[in-house]
Amino acid sequence: MDKKVMTLLKTQALIDGAWVGTPAMPVTDKATGEEIARVPDLGVAEAKAAIEAAHNAFPAWSKLLAKERTAILRRWYELIIEHADELALLLSKEQGKPLSEARGEIMYGAGFVEFFAEQAKRVYGETLPTFKAGARTVILKQPVGVVTAITPWNFPNAMITRKVSPALAVGCTAVVKPAEDTPLSALALAELAVRAGVPKGVLNVITTADAATVGKELSTNPLVRVVTFTGSTEVGRILMGQAASTIKKVSLELGGNAPFIVFDDADIDQAVAGALASKFRNAGQTCVCANRIYVQDKVYDAFAEKLSAGAAKLKVGAGTESGVEIGPLINEAGIAKVEDHVADAVNKGARVLIGGSRHDRGGTFFQPTVLANVDSSMKVTREETFGPVAPLFRFTDEADVVAQANDTQFGLAAYFYARDIGRVWRVAEALEYGMVGVNEGVMSTELAPFGGVKQSGLGREGSHHGIEEFLDTKYVLMGGL
Ligand code: ADP
Repeated sequence: MDKKVMTLLKTQALIDGAWVGTPAMPVTDKATGEEIARVPDLGVAEAKAAIEAAHNAFPAWSKLLAKERTAILRRWYELIIEHADELALLLSKEQGKPLSEARGEIMYGAGFVEFFAEQAKRVYGETLPTFKAGARTVILKQPVGVVTAITPWNFPNAMITRKVSPALAVGCTAVVKPAEDTPLSALALAELAVRAGVPKGVLNVITTADAATVGKELSTNPLVRVVTFTGSTEVGRILMGQAASTIKKVSLELGGNAPFIVFDDADIDQAVAGALASKFRNAGQTCVCANRIYVQDKVYDAFAEKLSAGAAKLKVGAGTESGVEIGPLINEAGIAKVEDHVADAVNKGARVLIGGSRHDRGGTFFQPTVLANVDSSMKVTREETFGPVAPLFRFTDEADVVAQANDTQFGLAAYFYARDIGRVWRVAEALEYGMVGVNEGVMSTELAPFGGVKQSGLGREGSHHGIEEFLDTKYVLMGGL
């Protein structure tokens, strides 16, 4: 890798402003399997040290003027933008996504830092009507304290900035544990935070191969006030249970099983473009990717044909090769699950329109795949496939498709394409999801609240709602006036 990237390639963890630990755990290039670097495999002692550092840094950080925190976060944002190319290259290599998408993630991630740097100045309390002469009711908004953040590999940069920047903006301090597969993007962000002037202990990043043990400390240590997590519903449930022991706040962005509905009054070309973007982004490895594509009878054949033609054109390759649109999957377990889901669907009567198997390049590359004749007995319907597989369902009736779309424990994102204004409102209101894209296949932005209902999570990230997780509300009765 070139010299500029090397200055951001950190191989130690950041605890209390010091780079610590012996590089041990290999991080690989997901397209080639080659080792890029090693990072420390830390344990409970280091997790405790990081939490204590954050606890000790909290009084001074939370007492800074909002404008002072804004200036530091703004500087962090500017450094991320200055180093966008290097961060994108590192991300593409350790995660696998195409370089253009990696760059998109860096800009998206930086957007949160920019937004919350500004938002630091907009933490508003209230004065409410008094219930008593000679007393006044004042509401203070105060930072909760130490935040621990556990983040996934599919967005190694943006899932960190989306949690850390609102926390730091309002005066909290943080300990981040990135995913084992993608710690380098986290450490690079931490290095830029140090350069931006984030004081020691305010942001700590620890790496480990033992997520369960370290995660237990991060979610049970009495000094921690909020646990914020993005990942599987399974792990979210464990963390929520552990956080219950000391009644911590939890903020959870968990799995999804997004329906994508195409009604017969939709603009089919727009629906195809939306489905391609929603389904195949990050090789299908996002929690808001279209998982189940329902197409109304009259337009089903035309849609299936156009979607297959579009998917067949997607270029598969290493993220760093030019023009690549689909990179490798994250690891062998990931591709094995995709293979299993396709085999299960085919055994139960699904028809492969294109793709259907591993790509000739070997490794963890999978062909963009479109399946027809899918039904609710198949795994692709019930579980997140997390791969480049688009399963198509045929439907006739609006109420019936809404019922099918809602027939899941998940409730993160849903999408539908229609033009009839009555239908648009009915369906948008009836879908039991935290986010609904109407005639749009991609909707993530720092300007809107991201999050789910049902077993897809608790809390919202992004927009002015995104600071609420990190604030306590205090009622002060000012008497004796
Ligand atoms: P995915 O299926 O996307 O890998 P996971 O929920 O397994 O989702 O992982 C998301 C994050 O949770 C990663 O940082 C991972 O290391 C961490 N993690 C996995 N298991 C646990 C656990 N038992 N406790 C705490 N964190 C965990």
